Amino acid sequence: MTDIPTGPRTLALMPVDQRAALDPYMAQIITYRKSGLSLNHIIGCPLDCGYCVRHFWGDFEHKTPHLLCPTDQAIDMLVGHQTFRPSITPIQLFNKATDPFLPGVKPHLFHILQALDDRGLDNLVLIITRFRVTAADMAKLEGLRHLRVTLLFTYSGITDARVEPIAKSTVTVSSLVTACEHKSRTKVVLYWRPIVPGWNDSPETMRRVLDVGDAADAIVFTGYYHKPENAAYLHAQGVDVPYDAADFHRRKTMPAELDARVIDAWRASGVTTPLFRKTSCGVSYAHDLPDYNGHWGVRELCDICPVAQQNLCAADHHVPSCSDFEQVLQGFGYSSPYLIDAEGGHVWTHGLGEQRRYPIQHTFRHQIWELDQPHYLHAHGRSLTGHGPTDEERQRLAAIRERFTITTRFDEDD
Ligand code: SF4
Repeated sequence: MTDIPTGPRTLALMPVDQRAALDPYMAQIITYRKSGLSLNHIIGCPLDCGYCVRHFWGDFEHKTPHLLCPTDQAIDMLVGHQTFRPSITPIQLFNKATDPFLPGVKPHLFHILQALDDRGLDNLVLIITRFRVTAADMAKLEGLRHLRVTLLFTYSGITDARVEPIAKSTVTVSSLVTACEHKSRTKVVLYWRPIVPGWNDSPETMRRVLDVGDAADAIVFTGYYHKPENAAYLHAQGVDVPYDAADFHRRKTMPAELDARVIDAWRASGVTTPLFRKTSCGVSYAHDLPDYNGHWGVRELCDICPVAQQNLCAADHHVPSCSDFEQVLQGFGYSSPYLIDAEGGHVWTHGLGEQRRYPIQHTFRHQIWELDQPHYLHAHGRSLTGHGPTDEERQRLAAIRERFTITTRFDEDD
């Protein structure tokens, strides 16, 4: 008889009617995101963070974690995914629909980690939490022999329990302290997000967050997803959302002025933990690696990075050749027109979608951009709120689009 893959039995399978009603994106167990190949076969979280991304897919009311499939089956789906590459693909566990350290979820987290480690895989693994991490948890993480694990603690100094109920307790800060006390091969990042004017941007709050991050390997800061679904929820709680109620964005909002104040606060604090704008930069630095997203190609991001890390990224940076690019596209089974390094630092593609672009980006550690969702100077991965593109930039993009059209036609004729 064939074994049916299972795993820990701490959670029930989601009832069929609930599963059938899930948004298609929530129902996807494996997705490819900028930070890595993401495993999410457990849905449900009681922590009620007002800015939670689950609002976007109508899933905020699932408070009790449920399995979408047995955990061993999910592991097979992860390592069997067409984009998964040993040593190369960064992995994210439970970053979409639950917190990995909730009591019912944690046995599954450790089961997955052990199963991957037992296979000898040394991929980077990102685990984002704001919940309780104990010394015993750290002992388990430290017992792994191959995987390169980073714990990212979401802590932003928000004190308004309507925005973040867990802010009433000290659980996140005490967990980060515990993790830092017991870490060696495991790395710890203070994930300073979301930073929002009026919520947590006072000098005193920034100072408090930075002091918490003093023991971490890196601090990564970012903004808030300003989207209709979470804005409506927050308004209903009586919370002021300080961005235009008619101007929503697919990228996080971090105006230039707020970015500058964060960096000034970090410089003035005397905290020696390096500060990063990008998750992959903080994680890569913590593991003594060049950035796996190739942000060295977006040089304005690097002005706050330690010089030794800049040298590491610079030495690693290389432009893919056409034949290498073709080979990787074919290896993943993709096709796209492309324009390699026309401006330096990135490859333009068209129509691949995020889930196909990022495996290519991680393979080359080089930025792969989408023609229809261009990045602008100082607004990489950010909404344009507080970052107006110049006429010169718009003209540059128009010129790229023209060249791209020519390349596309050439490929089609070919
Ligand atoms: S040098 Fe730039 S790309 Fe490399 S880790 Fe630092 S900020 Fe990121």
